[in-house]
Amino acid sequence: MDNWLMLVIGVVVVVVIEVIAYRAYKRYRARKEARFTKESLGEVFGDMEATRAYLLRAKEFLKQCSKQAKEEGDEAVACLVDSLLAGERAQLEGLEELRQKLDAKAVEFQKKEYDFPTLADALESYAAEAAAWAYDTVPGMVQRARKEGYRDVAKQLRIIGEVEGGHADLARGAAQGQVDREHEVSLCPTCGAVYFGRRPAFCTICNQPNFEMERMRRGVLD
Ligand SMILES: [Zn+2]
Repeated sequence: MDNWLMLVIGVVVVVVIEVIAYRAYKRYRARKEARFTKESLGEVFGDMEATRAYLLRAKEFLKQCSKQAKEEGDEAVACLVDSLLAGERAQLEGLEELRQKLDAKAVEFQKKEYDFPTLADALESYAAEAAAWAYDTVPGMVQRARKEGYRDVAKQLRIIGEVEGGHADLARGAAQGQVDREHEVSLCPTCGAVYFGRRPAFCTICNQPNFEMERMRRGVLD
């Protein structure tokens, strides 16, 4: 009899603890959601908008680089540029997931004109802009988001900065003719990182295992 009583008391205690914990969790979520508004985000919201505008600008420009590489019949560079392009799309999706909660409208972005004498010049220009974004602009944004308590935004922006830094290196390498035509190109669809040659076991930026990565196909001229 005593054993039964102990068992019943044990079950009741567990249920009560779970109910309390669940309520506390719901309150925590509600507070967090309430804080995630355009007004409360303030400058951090502006940073998210600016990041989206930057990514859209980069994506549109890379589309033109890709077209140019295909016209020149350079499959290796076209494959690399398409991977960078897919990387920008993945980053936009990541940012969208955060922005959904804000009901944020589309942003205006300044188009980057494609008026370069060669594809190498265009890629060099993309690389310079990506590096400036990654190393000059993003760190301040990450700091601001962290200071305001938006750790998820800070994390997303930090990832975008790291991915863009990697994109800048690859584009510069391609501009300088350092594209090993035998190497395969992989994309991490989660964060948008692009790997040239051997893939790491885990994405060095977002830690996704490498079986989640996509091998970018060469010679698919769409
Ligand atoms: Zn990744």
